[in-house]
Amino acid sequence: RSQMVQIRTGSAALDRVLGGGIETGSITEVYGEFRTGKTQLCHSLAVICQLPVDMGGAEGKCLWIDTEGTFRPERLLAIASRFNMTGEDVLENVAVARSYNSEHMYQLAMTAGAMMSESRYALVIVDCATAQFRTEYTGRGELAARQMALAKFLRLLHNLCNEFGVAIVITNQVVASVDGGAGMYADPKKPVGGNIIAHMSTTRLYMKKGKAESRVCKVQQSPSLPEAEATFSITQQGIED
Ligand code: ADP
Ligand code: MG
Repeated sequence: RSQMVQIRTGSAALDRVLGGGIETGSITEVYGEFRTGKTQLCHSLAVICQLPVDMGGAEGKCLWIDTEGTFRPERLLAIASRFNMTGEDVLENVAVARSYNSEHMYQLAMTAGAMMSESRYALVIVDCATAQFRTEYTGRGELAARQMALAKFLRLLHNLCNEFGVAIVITNQVVASVDGGAGMYADPKKPVGGNIIAHMSTTRLYMKKGKAESRVCKVQQSPSLPEAEATFSITQQGIED
């Protein structure tokens, strides 16, 4: 397994609060409300991870597990042009798998290991990691079963990190917090999945809308970073200051 590197996001401000970028070898969770830029950040990372290390990348391919049908190849092309990369090559280096239910998502992550032993992957994106579990396990009595299934999936991702040193980025939705945001979250919305996700992801980032069209990303949990926030914008060319 290779040394930890950091994949830049395209925003210098965001990279600064991340201590350089998204870490390889661990799981980063990005949670927040709809349209806050989670999927756009993923598009940027899917391109930048392909760059050489001295240009902010991790010299590897990206595997994208798409549960909501929001992956857009044309976004990759626009971002690629910003970094003077050949669009065709960039697309070729992103393997996209559409997941139709949580069991399928698990199967896709199982096959990821085989793909990673064959070629060099730098990044795995799961967008969104929790939505399918949420829609499948709905009843109150099913919460324990849902959490168990989610934990099983996350353990698999964890193994991929450990075995192949890839960066894993999972996105997550938010729900209204029962306690109104008292306790560990300073916001009335909290991420889905509770303790399971909190324990399995190394770094947790909270995305929200900022002033005008800007977006704000807050480091919510990290073993090595202060709880800082960065303001960035979403443009045709991806994530920028
Ligand atoms: P989430 O995944 O958190 O629901 P997205 O990552 O899909 O949110 O972000 C949606 C936002 O990104 C919208 O506000 C949209 O206007 C903006 N956006 C998407 N594509 C572009 C683009 N090409 N140029 C500028 N902004 C864009
Ligand atoms: Mg999205």
